[in-house]
Amino acid sequence: MNEILKVENLVKKYNDSYAVKNVSFTVNKGEVLVIIGASGSGKSTILRCINQLEKIDGGNVTINEDSMIKEMKNGKVIYNTKDILNKMNLECGMVFQNFNLFPHLSVLQNVTEAMVHVLKLDYKEAENKALKILENMGLKGKERKYPCNLSGGEQQRASIARTLAIAPQIIFMDEPTSALDPELVGEVLKVVKKLASQNRTMVIVTHEIQFAKEIADRVIFMCDGKIIEEGIPKDVIDNPKKKRTKEFLKRYSN
Ligand code: ADP
Repeated sequence: MNEILKVENLVKKYNDSYAVKNVSFTVNKGEVLVIIGASGSGKSTILRCINQLEKIDGGNVTINEDSMIKEMKNGKVIYNTKDILNKMNLECGMVFQNFNLFPHLSVLQNVTEAMVHVLKLDYKEAENKALKILENMGLKGKERKYPCNLSGGEQQRASIARTLAIAPQIIFMDEPTSALDPELVGEVLKVVKKLASQNRTMVIVTHEIQFAKEIADRVIFMCDGKIIEEGIPKDVIDNPKKKRTKEFLKRYSN
């Protein structure tokens, strides 16, 4: 197994309350890990901590050979050097619930932006790559449009295209369909499935249980900041062992 992400005893507190309590898991290259659990159980916080959008209070995150935390000192985490953290950040791509596209940039500019400013590609090369990625996301013909002129499903597909632009080693998706009208959910799930079929490594938080079953190599069920159950979808979703997983699935499956 080719381990690409290792989360060890991750702790995140807001004020004095734990959002994430000693969470550990690993993800192998090409694997799709789906995280399910009720609202407020810490799923989003885990993704935000790995993507350096939140500071962590304990534990560590390792991507390939690089670790986020260098050491613990007097009970506090000491982050690694800026260079290592930047490198780790480039290896991660995040897709948000609310798309987070730049509203003043066209779809094409949204996708080329990081290629030009972060990866330092020249504009023509970035544009060629972006056009291919957008076509792959089913957005041919929408390149010059602005986010406000797209449907929610198109905006989320553009946001996935933007994430793919930096060629991240791991793609994180935080409830990618929960802001969409029901009739637009399918088109986004379809492109996510396409990425899975291309052997992309992904960690996806979702309430779409049927989708989770179809796409996940492994499922984690979270409750109160902790992992309660973990395994293949056939076990965790079809045959959960823990009472809290059973209760959750009763509410969310239809
Ligand atoms: P989920 O993604 O499973 O819905 P979250 O990770 O968003 O859960 O939240 C986990 C817990 O952390 C919740 O109790 C939530 O209220 C709390 N929390 C999340 N973000 C913040 C924040 N910025 N400030 C204070 N509390 C927060």
